[in-house]
Amino acid sequence: MKRISILGSTGSIGKNTLEVVRGRQDKFKVVGLAARNNIDLLESQIREFKPEIAAVFDEDAAASVRKKDLPVEIFSGEQGLVRAATIENADMVVSAIVGSAGLVPTYEAIKAGKDIALATKEALVMAGGIIIPLAAGRGVRIIPVDSEHSAVFQCLNGRDMDEIRKIVLTASGGPFLRKSISELDAVTPEDALKHPTWDMGKKISIDSATLMNKGLEVIEACWLFNLPPEKVEVVLHPQSIIHSMVRFIDGSVIAHMSVPDMKGPISYALSFPERFSGAMPPLDLAGVGKLTFEEPDMGKYPALALAYEAIRAGGTMPCVLNAANEVAVEAFLDRKISFRAISLVVSRAMEAHNVLKTDSIDTVIKASDLAKEKAKEIIDELRVM
Ligand code: MG
Repeated sequence: MKRISILGSTGSIGKNTLEVVRGRQDKFKVVGLAARNNIDLLESQIREFKPEIAAVFDEDAAASVRKKDLPVEIFSGEQGLVRAATIENADMVVSAIVGSAGLVPTYEAIKAGKDIALATKEALVMAGGIIIPLAAGRGVRIIPVDSEHSAVFQCLNGRDMDEIRKIVLTASGGPFLRKSISELDAVTPEDALKHPTWDMGKKISIDSATLMNKGLEVIEACWLFNLPPEKVEVVLHPQSIIHSMVRFIDGSVIAHMSVPDMKGPISYALSFPERFSGAMPPLDLAGVGKLTFEEPDMGKYPALALAYEAIRAGGTMPCVLNAANEVAVEAFLDRKISFRAISLVVSRAMEAHNVLKTDSIDTVIKASDLAKEKAKEIIDELRVM
């Protein structure tokens, strides 16, 4: 029986994780649940899965959950998330909090020696240089939940890294694949939220439309698989059937395919090194018919180029990329800036940043907070223009 704590249990990954657990109660027991503020859903999750503790990030929301007299202790704030991340009884922590808020709880879970099923890519984007050595030192396994990284992880299957020439991350291209650069000026949040193949949260849907999500995944892949950015390639693959590939030194390419369903990578991360039956429906190959690939146009997707620039610059630069993007995406969703201005804000925030070494989590958080302030300033300047 694997005992798991789920950080971000009411989000898209969290809900899918609980669905996987629901089907395999003989294998998994939920011991911790943590959410930001969706307390109605959290309440029903607590009643169904009976964790030992639950945490609510938002203090007001936590106060109203406490009034409900649930059979579980409720913690709150960042400390509450950390409590859920470090619960003594947990073997594995599913890290699925959206954005930079997921960094500290993930870091603390690793410090506490918990294996990590990692969906919060921001933890590695912001602090890969701290987290990867820490996990290695504690004997902690970080198993990717991000579908692309799960695919690479499955293709590698413990193979010698000397045999690898490159990894290839696939990107669907998002909802605007067939739009021209000039047409992108007029797109609305509603247009950007309509992802053609994956059903995801709001932030990641916008990041998929700009391809920033792929950029963050390139950085995540560099840390997870210990590869320089030039060994991480991105290809557009609109059908989202191949989730990523590995190029080997002999010219072979091994690809991982399945229907686009997050329950696949989640189930594999939870069950690794085993594989459980029935995680996803079988792939109907004749029904898919054909698989196509295209080179991404960096002019149309500047966010992807910015991500490569950030990982090459190193230090705190990827953290600034991520922080400025979070603020810019929120501003786009609030209709304060246009879709194309998202990348502009990120690029200006990066220009204004002097790279520091990521020597501690505090340095990283400070760089992130400052970049968020800077991004807000840049957005205000853009709005008066
Ligand atoms: Mg992904």
